Amino acid sequence: MLGPVILAASRSDRMRRFVSAAPGTKQVVSRFIAGETIEQVIPIVRETIAKGLEVTLDVVGEDITTAEQATAARDAYLELVDHLKVLDLGPKAEMSVKLSMFGQALEGGHELALANVRPVVEAAAAIGTTVTLDAEDHTTLDSMFAIHEELRKDFPQTGCVIQAYLFRTEEDARRLASNGSRVRIVKGAYKEPASVAYQDRREVDKAYVRILKTLMEGDGYPMIGSHDPRLIAISQELARRAGRKLDEYEFQMLYGIRGDEHLRLAAEGHRMRVYTAYGTDWYGYFMRRLAEKPANLLFFVRSMITK
Ligand code: FAD
Repeated sequence: MLGPVILAASRSDRMRRFVSAAPGTKQVVSRFIAGETIEQVIPIVRETIAKGLEVTLDVVGEDITTAEQATAARDAYLELVDHLKVLDLGPKAEMSVKLSMFGQALEGGHELALANVRPVVEAAAAIGTTVTLDAEDHTTLDSMFAIHEELRKDFPQTGCVIQAYLFRTEEDARRLASNGSRVRIVKGAYKEPASVAYQDRREVDKAYVRILKTLMEGDGYPMIGSHDPRLIAISQELARRAGRKLDEYEFQMLYGIRGDEHLRLAAEGHRMRVYTAYGTDWYGYFMRRLAEKPANLLFFVRSMITK
């Protein structure tokens, strides 16, 4: 019950101000956000890679309101590419982007987001890595998929995310499970109405498995974004049945969540990528992590009281 309330709060400016100023917030945020600056996150990238893991880096931010902010988002990612170039990690360090941060919701936003994200995808390709387009709320997805298709004409390795909780996703998965397409499947993290999304967690899990099967049996590159032990075991079994080798799919989990599992899967020979978010505009990302596991909220409230 708490999850939807927290997700509603994630859209409120008043709550944003309250949470950002609350004592103890920084400590809890640092569990999920790897740092506020590029200088703080680079050593974490190095450590993660040294453990035999890979990363996808996300500069946090969304729901921007001006074209200048969208340009600043593009520049933040270009600066990240400059740092990754020095580390010379190739595809071991890729990037995840939210198109809302590139201006998608502004007037003329579809074209603006495409114009801002293209140089980032180009710069990533020049250093031998890739970009994955995150999935946001359902109203943004037609535009996201169209941008994905457009980018893939020149950069076929560009990935995208699909969300098992949406009714539309089984069809999206059938379209995307081909032609080397890199597709991350996740349960879905936004507050969506019953007209477009399953509300029952068991229904979401069942849809996740059906979609996984489509991705595994297709000839794209599935990226399994989940911490759910049951779904991870099912993924392994479906990959085996589809005759996929270990380098023909990968697991992805979030920084700060089930770190032991990151290492276990890597030790089994799986490619395991850690979604590593950093930056100052962490509020929306942080609130979605609280909503996923209400016990995090109790921990957060306790840290405010004991400060
Ligand atoms: P759950 O059933 O939610 O969790 C399984 C177990 O994992 C829990 O019992 C708990 O032990 C642990 N766990 C899960 N979440 C947390 C948490 N926040 N704190 C502590 N423990 C936790 N969603 C989108 O809508 N769009 C995206 O682009 C997107 N990208 C993602 C990228 C990656 C790599 C991952 C892993 C997730 C992404 N998500 C995205 C979020 C996703 O939709 C889910 O909300 C999130 O992964 C929780 O679902 P789960 O599959 O881990 O299963």
